[in-house]
Amino acid sequence: MAYQVLARRWRPQRFEEVVGQDHVTRTLANAISTGRLAHAFLLCGPRGVGKTTTARILAKCLNCETATDGPVTEPCNSCSTCEEIGAGRSLDVLEIDGASNRGIDEIRDLRENVRYAPSAGRSKVYIIDEVHMLTKEAFNALLKTLEEPPDGVYFVFATTEAHKVPATIRSRCQKYDFHRIPHEVIAETLGKLAETEKFTVEPAALAELARQADGGLRDAQSLLDQAAAVGEGKVTVEGLRSLLGEAEDETYLRILESVAHGRAGDAFEVLQGLLDRGMDPGRIALTLTERLRDLLVVQTAPDSAASLGVRADLMEAFRSVAGAVSSAKLTALLALASRSVSDLRRSSRPRLTLEVALARMSRLEDAGDLAELAARLEASLAGAP
Ligand SMILES: [Zn+2]
Repeated sequence: MAYQVLARRWRPQRFEEVVGQDHVTRTLANAISTGRLAHAFLLCGPRGVGKTTTARILAKCLNCETATDGPVTEPCNSCSTCEEIGAGRSLDVLEIDGASNRGIDEIRDLRENVRYAPSAGRSKVYIIDEVHMLTKEAFNALLKTLEEPPDGVYFVFATTEAHKVPATIRSRCQKYDFHRIPHEVIAETLGKLAETEKFTVEPAALAELARQADGGLRDAQSLLDQAAAVGEGKVTVEGLRSLLGEAEDETYLRILESVAHGRAGDAFEVLQGLLDRGMDPGRIALTLTERLRDLLVVQTAPDSAASLGVRADLMEAFRSVAGAVSSAKLTALLALASRSVSDLRRSSRPRLTLEVALARMSRLEDAGDLAELAARLEASLAGAP
């Protein structure tokens, strides 16, 4: 898809271009210039904030052809080595997806590979994304290599869930915490990108994009991209809303009606349609939660529904769904939906996470005392950080 090409074009190529993570990039550059670079790094933080981008830049700093006297603090990005790494073609820089290569065999292969020296004068860099997904056995195998890293071998681990990485691994890594990027910084960055790409973007649309992306620049970029593609270079708040499906409350109601009546299959079908149109699972979960809240309002306080923000044109549809479901069940559904919103923020497989949530919501009937379940979920949500 075209927007992936653009997202790649916008990927930072130098530390100074990484947005909102100065505390990380400055420390890394410092470690390089003072010769105190570790052999293993753990990059932690939410998705889409620059972890693997930073890992790749670091790999270039280590291997750039201008690095004749030890690693450089910024890669040149024009030598053939930098180009190979940038294109993912380098034999010395290996990127491994921890989620799909999580077993002992993959790590054994890796350890085997580590024994081959890098090309002359180069470093070998292993970037393992979503490293927390590795199995215990795989971690143990990895640990042996980390304990005695061969010369010129570096490991860069990235994770959205640092607490799931064993302490034995963590203690052997230099740890860097990536932050969610402030909305105004995202808006400003997108504004510059839009200028470069010659998109016309309403200032309010920039703010809306930043709000939707919730601290993740990658999501914000791909959203801007899609909106610009749909609007033929023009991005408006209205265009964004329709792209995000906010005008389509009926679709969400159909999903909710299906799960409320135990028809997971129907819900999946509607969900598929939304995903096919490139909608973000996290966004879908959030909208489902908002619509459930509307349903609860319509059910418990029908007279004040309008003043509580329920859309007038949908009131009839809301009433018919709300009338067919008990309030205990609605509360339980709402609790499950809000839980899925926070689960999705951490999930490396958002689609699966959302489907599991819908399946759970559809099976609520089996869960025994719904009121008790709702109370328990509410309590656990209230206790969540
Ligand atoms: Zn270079």
